[in-house]
Amino acid sequence: NEEFVLFTRPSGQSDIKSAWKLQSCLMPIITKDNEFILETLFVSVDPYLSSGLKKSALGGAINSIGSIQISGLVARVIESRNPNIPVDTIVTGRMEWKRFILANGTEPRFRIVQKPTDKNTIYNKIGFSTAVGVLGMPSQTSYYGILSVANTQPSDVLVISGAAGAVGTIAGQIAKKIRGAKMVIGIAGGKKKCDCIVNELGFDAAIDYKEYNTKDKMVNRLKELTPSGITQYFDNTGGFVTDAIFDIIERHSKIIICGQISTYNNSEEDLSKSNIYPNYLAKTIYRGLSILGFVCSDFIHRNEEEFFKDMPNWLEQGIIKFHETIIDGFENLPRAYEMLFTGENIGKIVVKV
Ligand code: NDP
Repeated sequence: NEEFVLFTRPSGQSDIKSAWKLQSCLMPIITKDNEFILETLFVSVDPYLSSGLKKSALGGAINSIGSIQISGLVARVIESRNPNIPVDTIVTGRMEWKRFILANGTEPRFRIVQKPTDKNTIYNKIGFSTAVGVLGMPSQTSYYGILSVANTQPSDVLVISGAAGAVGTIAGQIAKKIRGAKMVIGIAGGKKKCDCIVNELGFDAAIDYKEYNTKDKMVNRLKELTPSGITQYFDNTGGFVTDAIFDIIERHSKIIICGQISTYNNSEEDLSKSNIYPNYLAKTIYRGLSILGFVCSDFIHRNEEEFFKDMPNWLEQGIIKFHETIIDGFENLPRAYEMLFTGENIGKIVVKV
């Protein structure tokens, strides 16, 4: 058996890959009723993992050096002493980065994806990896973010940063195709991503922030594309794109803070010293803006059923389309995590074990 433990706290983007160490460990053994052994199939790498790698907490828990990394994963039961979870059941939950895991069904966010007797489930069509992607946490973030937090309406002109990623691709489509927003503009890095979100996913327009690479260029491009003004901003990145939005967003608009990935690898010294976003609060007052932060887990507890009713339907009907970037090999988990920050993924990035 093998596992990834936290080896060192990265100081910035250059050394994130060396944060973890792969080491061998014992094969799990069932010793109690209700336990079962899982063979890991897919592991999710997510930007939020960065907060656990830091010395001081930003909100969530801090991982101690030597602890086994945890994230969402999909696994198959290969041995079981649990009558409800027999061999060949496919499950998901937040669990340790191990090839083989001992579990009992009380793990955080544990859910049965498919029972051995289930036939023709959506997962047979679109793959079990989607249980941590378009049918999992990132997509739930998009769902609650647009439908509950932003509550996007047909009159809205919405801008989304990080638009070609797991959350952004789905959030933009829900706003456009489900809520009928007047205009949805995605901000993403590079032509390939911008073409994808417009031509394949149905965004109205895209802006390559690597081309429009200063606040002023971004302001001008946004003004050109939105003559009637921007009424909602769904922020996944922070940085100069967010600065540009604060300069021009309409009065009484909503700014939904979903993520700030451009700051996740800043050193803690930088974060504590700098006033990264000058004047945001003054602009919020004078423009009567609503800044709404949220975490997906707040909503999952309340109305997960709605998501699991709507999203499979939208996928089956071809209304919502999704992309995955699948990286082969358990040993490549650190590299896959790094790819989130180098922007090498389109849609959800998942490691196939
Ligand atoms: P993505 O699939 O969007 O992957 C990350 C993407 O971020 C990259 O592909 C890259 O795209 C972009 N990126 C990386 N570094 C920068 C940078 N310095 N400036 C601008 N863009 C950058 O990840 P997710 O969809 O999983 O997450 C997106 C955001 O949503 C993150 O901020 C995450 O923390 C947040 N999130 C929040 C949740 C919540 O409950 N509030 C839950 C889940 C995610 P590009 O090539 O375009 O640069």
